[in-house]
Amino acid sequence: MIRTRFAPSPTGFLHIGGARTALFSWAYAQRNQGKFILRIEDTDIERSTTESVQSILDAMVWLNLPPDEGPYYQTSRMNRYQEIIQRMLTEGSAYYCYCSKQELEQMREQQKLQGIKPKYDRRCLHHGQKNTNTKPVVRFKNPETGSVIWHDLVKGKIEFSNLELDDLIIARSDGVPTYNFCVVVDDLDMNITHVIRGDDHVNNTPRQINILQALNAPIPLYGHVPMILREDGEKMSKRRDAVSVMQYKAMGILPEALLNYLAKLCWGYGDEEIFTMEQFVNWFDLNNVSGSPARFDIKKLFWVNAQHLKLTNNNRLKDLVLEIWQQDNAKYNQVLSHVEQYGSDKLEQLIELIKPRVDNLNSLANNCIYFFTPFPIADIDCANILTNDAQQILTKFVDQINQINVWTLENIKLSIKEFCQTNQIKMPQLGMPLRLQLFGTKETPAFDALMYLLGKDETLNRLGK
Ligand code: GLU
Repeated sequence: MIRTRFAPSPTGFLHIGGARTALFSWAYAQRNQGKFILRIEDTDIERSTTESVQSILDAMVWLNLPPDEGPYYQTSRMNRYQEIIQRMLTEGSAYYCYCSKQELEQMREQQKLQGIKPKYDRRCLHHGQKNTNTKPVVRFKNPETGSVIWHDLVKGKIEFSNLELDDLIIARSDGVPTYNFCVVVDDLDMNITHVIRGDDHVNNTPRQINILQALNAPIPLYGHVPMILREDGEKMSKRRDAVSVMQYKAMGILPEALLNYLAKLCWGYGDEEIFTMEQFVNWFDLNNVSGSPARFDIKKLFWVNAQHLKLTNNNRLKDLVLEIWQQDNAKYNQVLSHVEQYGSDKLEQLIELIKPRVDNLNSLANNCIYFFTPFPIADIDCANILTNDAQQILTKFVDQINQINVWTLENIKLSIKEFCQTNQIKMPQLGMPLRLQLFGTKETPAFDALMYLLGKDETLNRLGK
């Protein structure tokens, strides 16, 4: 069975590059009826925080990429790492190294002078335990000859000469196992068949393969996906860019739109631009992932989001809009109570009218507010719109619509048409003041549809005031 994993280090929030890697690992497992495992790589005690763990878990929930197993935590597996280190020491694939920092420094200086690439010269392996009080580190005995070759599922054949690889420290002098080693033991114990991760890990892969080989363990397949860069080709940074997944939630992006956009950044399936996660899983293959870095284009993301908003059912959008208002209860208290009064189905119908006009949930929520704010205070200078003439038009218009017996959209449209014809009025002459009087804003979808939603009583009520 195919088993993939996503293995974030909890040293910060979930980065969009991480989300993309998680998506590919999840989709690959889904596509192949496999399992997707979540592993929190928290051995770096100084940099890992519980807040980061929580924010990563929250982001995974928001993205709707549920693991089939996990989260597993490396810090709970320390005994297992020690067990393997002991085994390797016994079998001779690892050895203690007592060299001090200064000694290693001197060794490197000398190698440089001799024009050799700096590398640990194995003096502790050859000369046995030193008579010293220094607590040793444990080093992996990397093969000295040959090379490590793997057929990367994204980048094709990759080869590293063993001459290039140092004897990696697998346990520090305080006994704490190191990153590359823990990854290997975890991938082995968790029976990972496909390691899909960012290509910043390409250099770690030959070291990890060598350790797996020393343990006589099966070697998983590796697929290294390219980095996501800024639009100008520079690396993304926390300082300048929105790199956290949850920042996109705050911008009103739908999770499936973010995933759709991230997927498209470095993967393609024909000309398909907009797709559901179900379609993506059906189409996804690592062969179609591009090996070169992708550039993040926020405008394109909002465009993708707009397309997804149109496809999302109004009931879900209603819940998301309510969630936005509820988060700032003090500010939207009145709006929320009017939604309750008018019925939330009105909000759904309103969303149907507004969603084609916006590209994010915050705008959607903002554009719904005026409907639920009777007698709003106009946010614009309305003196030149609500002129005496305009007031007169509105007064006549009230009489006209008062006569509508059955409040249907069709009848409202007919009534408006008739009103304009009889009084020789152009639509904007009515529309502008009417919008302002009913909703306190000039920017709304078709006012006949909004009047229909408001209902006759409320329409007249608002116009009467
Ligand atoms: N913990 C690593 C990271 O957050 C990922 C390791 C891996 O996927 O092998 O970059």
